[in-house]
Amino acid sequence: MEITIIRKQGNVIHFLAEGIDVAFANALRRTMLTRLPAMAVDEVLVVENTSVMYDEMLAHRLGLVPLVTDLESYNLPEDCDCDGRGCALCQVTLTLEKEAEEEELLVCSGDMVSQDPKVVPASNDIPLVKLAPHQRLIIEAYARLGKGVENAKFQPVSTVSYKYVPIVQVDKDKCNNCGDCVEVCPKNILLVENDTISTQNTLDCSLCEACVEVCEPGAIVIDSKSDSFLFRVESSGALAPETIVEKSAELLKERIRLALDYANSL
Ligand SMILES: [Zn+2]
Repeated sequence: MEITIIRKQGNVIHFLAEGIDVAFANALRRTMLTRLPAMAVDEVLVVENTSVMYDEMLAHRLGLVPLVTDLESYNLPEDCDCDGRGCALCQVTLTLEKEAEEEELLVCSGDMVSQDPKVVPASNDIPLVKLAPHQRLIIEAYARLGKGVENAKFQPVSTVSYKYVPIVQVDKDKCNNCGDCVEVCPKNILLVENDTISTQNTLDCSLCEACVEVCEPGAIVIDSKSDSFLFRVESSGALAPETIVEKSAELLKERIRLALDYANSL
């Protein structure tokens, strides 16, 4: 598999994977979604909650806050020497202590204080609960590494998608240069250049074939490569998107090796 990064913008990365089939592309997508560990709040101790929100609802909201993950310093609980009971190598404590005075107060993810400055909410602006005057919240939350296969809150990605690499061909003999295809293309792939139709940014093509429908039969042919895929990976903020791709490829390679070893041992 050959990977070419097309663009990276904040938490989103677009890359081209060549020399793979659709089954492998999907395996890579599913590995990113379900097998790559990320930190999330998993246990919550509610010391005091006089807000209108139930403890369970608050715990659910805390669990869904993406936390910046440090994969090097923490173990998965099942791999930890403490046997998953929770120690400094597999658990991080975050505390939340807020009281509204005379005014209403919106408590956000950024109000959580982590014992490890590297494991903090990926965004400080996620609303958790609104406190009315004199309502109070004292919470201790325990975060740990987990995988998306166990619970979606551990997914390090918001979305992962891929599409076939488009091939857009214009047959200049059949084209009458009416320009209708330029008008209908939602991605502005086609343009009129020197009185003929030419193409630009073909990787943006969504294969909708709107151009084929308005055009002379056979003048525009839309096809796709069967061994190349364009991926779009959006991180939740837990890990850098390039780390997600790199680590998932390593994990997939390891899982394939284990499967082959097992098959050979039969
Ligand atoms: Zn431990």
